[in-house]
Amino acid sequence: MRQLFKASMLASAMAVSYGALAEGQIVTIGTGGQTGVYYVVGQSVCKLVNRNTAETGVKCNAPSTGGSVDNLNALAAGERQMGIVQSDSQYRAYKGEGEFDGKKNENLRSIFSVHPEPFTVVARTDAGINDFADLKGKRVNIGNPGSGTRTTMEVLLEAEGWGEAPFAVASELKPAEMASALCDNNLDAISYTVGHPSGAIKEAAASCESHLVNVTGEAVDKLVDENSYFAKVTIPGGMYDGTPDDTETFGVYATLVTSSDVDEDTVYEITKTVFDNFDRFKSLHPAFENLKQEDMITNALTAPLHAGAERYYREQGWIE
Ligand code: GLU
Repeated sequence: MRQLFKASMLASAMAVSYGALAEGQIVTIGTGGQTGVYYVVGQSVCKLVNRNTAETGVKCNAPSTGGSVDNLNALAAGERQMGIVQSDSQYRAYKGEGEFDGKKNENLRSIFSVHPEPFTVVARTDAGINDFADLKGKRVNIGNPGSGTRTTMEVLLEAEGWGEAPFAVASELKPAEMASALCDNNLDAISYTVGHPSGAIKEAAASCESHLVNVTGEAVDKLVDENSYFAKVTIPGGMYDGTPDDTETFGVYATLVTSSDVDEDTVYEITKTVFDNFDRFKSLHPAFENLKQEDMITNALTAPLHAGAERYYREQGWIE
């Protein structure tokens, strides 16, 4: 929770300083719910970028949003200049598939990937849910509209072939509302495609008897075999109260994307700022601890690199 506190402090500090800054490029990075990790990514990038505004002319803000799909739609509409999005959503937006059928965005550009995001299911211990299959007929939060979580759930349900109404209740609560709904016994389980440790999952694990659920089986095997953006992942045991053992599931990566309409110098400055201050960036959330520059510029990126990011990576000799 300390991290969340830090992030919200930053948000208010930035809001105060904006009016005083000189004219320049203002970049808005779409994130996710305030209890997620995207919000911390956005706030962390902007914190570093805004320290150099006098030099670079680039100002940055990172409001809370609905998540991946919302961020990709806002980018396509020119309402925001950058967004943090799941690697599967990035893929489908660039190719015009799935939830982006008929909305192919050829101007989508990638900057780098960030932390892994396992599809995470937490169930009340009294609900008798040990595996994803046990969710059938239960009260489940499937993710708010516009979130990447919601599409991960929908893709999995389709692969499972469970039909139109697989749950007794399919709620659409935002991440910040999920833990209390679970612990008030209004839900049996919640889902979240998110980096770990996650504040929202910690809250659920600490507030009532609950545990992480394995998401495995034939449908998951098929999804991972057929889609390069999905991989099997393990959430280490002991990270959350009530879950001493490892949890097996599948997941994606968080990625930072932009549009070819955003100018090269602006994207260059933002990319440079993050990598020139990489140790500091990594210290801003435990989910960033294992990040490696070489993975971030190659892993999980479907859309071509933005010219500004590419310029920085070339200068560093990281790409040919
Ligand atoms: N993966 C989630 C989504 O796309 C957001 C996770 C987060 O906010 O950290 O909606």
